[in-house]
Amino acid sequence: MKNDKGVLVVISGFSGCGKGTMMKELLENYDNYALSISATTRSPRIGEVDGREYFFKTKEEFKKMIDEQAFLEYACYVDNYYGTPKAYVEKCLEEGKDVLLEIEIQGAHHVKELMPEAVLIFILPPSAEELKNRLSGRGTETEDVIQARLDRAKEEAYGIEEYDYVVVNDNLEESVAQLNALIKSLHCDTFRNKELINNIREGVNRF
Ligand code: 5GP
Repeated sequence: MKNDKGVLVVISGFSGCGKGTMMKELLENYDNYALSISATTRSPRIGEVDGREYFFKTKEEFKKMIDEQAFLEYACYVDNYYGTPKAYVEKCLEEGKDVLLEIEIQGAHHVKELMPEAVLIFILPPSAEELKNRLSGRGTETEDVIQARLDRAKEEAYGIEEYDYVVVNDNLEESVAQLNALIKSLHCDTFRNKELINNIREGVNRF
C-alpha cells in the first residue's frame, strides 16, 4: 500500500531570511500543507493576529501548557518562549498533510530526536549582507533586538550541517517552487514506503 501519511517538515533560518514569507507563499500556491501555529510569550508585532501568526500567551499561560505536556517542543529565543502545540501536528499528519513547523534550531533538534522521520530544512539568505539589510529594513524591531537576532545568527550558523537540506531564498517564487519540489520528493523516500516495498517483494516472490 502506498504511504499516505504526511511528512513532518521543520523549517529554520536566521531571523530576517524570509522564511515566514516563504511559508505563506507555499501555503497559498501549493496543496496539501498545514502550517503549525506556535504559542509564544513575545508581544504581537503590528498586524499580527492572535491565532493566525501565533497564539500569544502570558508567561503563566505558557508554563501551564508546558505542565500539561501540550507541546511537541518548546524553546527560549532572545528572551521569549516559543512552543509547538502537539495535538494539531499529530492530527494533520494522520490526515496525510505535510506539516510545516517554522521553528528555531534548538526546537528543530528536539523534534528530530523525538521524531527521526522529520525532515529538517534550513533557509539561507543569498548573503550575510542581504540578511542584515532585510532584518533592518522590515522596521519591526528595535536596534537592540536586531543586534540580538544577528548574534543569534552567529550561533545558528554552526548548526546548519545538522539539517538535511538547505534552500537559498533569493528569488521568492523560484525558492518556494524549489522548496515545494523538495518536500514532495520526500514522499518517495524508501523508508517512508516500507509497506509498499514489502508488498511488491512478497508479490514478486510468488512468481
Ligand atoms: P519571531 O519572533 O521572529 O516570530 O520568531 C523568532 C524565532 O522563533 C524564529 O526563529 C522562529 O522560527 C522561532 N519559532 C517560532 N515558533 C517556534 C516554536 O514553536 N518553537 C521553537 N523552538 N521556535 C519557534
